[in-house]
Amino acid sequence: MAAVDFVDVRKSFGAFPVIKGVNIEIEDGEFVILVGPSGCGKSTLLRMLAGLENISAGEIRIGDRVVNSLPPKDRDIAMVFQNYALYPHMTVADNMAFSLMLAGSSKADIDKRVGAAAEILGLSKLLDRYPRQLSGGQRQRVAMGRAIVRDPQVFLFDEPLSNLDAKLRVAMRAEIKELHQRLKTTTVYVTHDQIEAMTMADKIVVMHDGIVEQIGAPLDLYDNPANLFVAGFIGSPA
Ligand code: ADP
Ligand code: MG
Repeated sequence: MAAVDFVDVRKSFGAFPVIKGVNIEIEDGEFVILVGPSGCGKSTLLRMLAGLENISAGEIRIGDRVVNSLPPKDRDIAMVFQNYALYPHMTVADNMAFSLMLAGSSKADIDKRVGAAAEILGLSKLLDRYPRQLSGGQRQRVAMGRAIVRDPQVFLFDEPLSNLDAKLRVAMRAEIKELHQRLKTTTVYVTHDQIEAMTMADKIVVMHDGIVEQIGAPLDLYDNPANLFVAGFIGSPA
């Protein structure tokens, strides 16, 4: 059974189709990257998986559950956004604890989970700081910490590094991969950066204008692109 399964998924905004029949199977523990030019539908696909956007037709499964009509909180996923979306008036610890507090976890459980996530992410000494007192990379780690504490079935990332400078972006790619190797949580990661896709993914899904052009391991796509679009997109510099 796939960890995540998109079956002929479609989405229109009004009369305008933006996702036109997408099939993607993601295995348990896989790090899958959706890549494609701006506007091709990557965020929409991720938001539908998260439950932040309704689907117009088809089926989305997480594990053995069809989640089409489940609210986000019941999907056992955690999403890391591009703009971090940290709460500016809360400390690092409270930012990480917030969703657990909402879910009614005990203080002991929250402290344990926040402590463990902070340890993994190198944030243990920064727990009392506020977001404005952090660097861009540290903020990104807090955003990841908020996802980790929930120990979800699936992590979703939507262009998490695009606000960082080039040097930090390269460092954070490695951190995110290390995190994945450590936790082995199934991950769906969106980027428009083909270098990021080629260096980070177990499996790449190349999207174009609301459809999937090709799915494969980075080297498969590089060696055997299905068409000129994939060849041009994978082969061109970011
Ligand atoms: P990507 O993340 O690949 O850049 P998106 O999924 O954000 O692409 O957008 C895909 C298409 O859907 C674009 O044409 C975009 O303008 C359109 N779109 C996205 N969200 C909405 C919305 N809420 N209402 C109308 N059109 C939207
Ligand atoms: Mg997007």
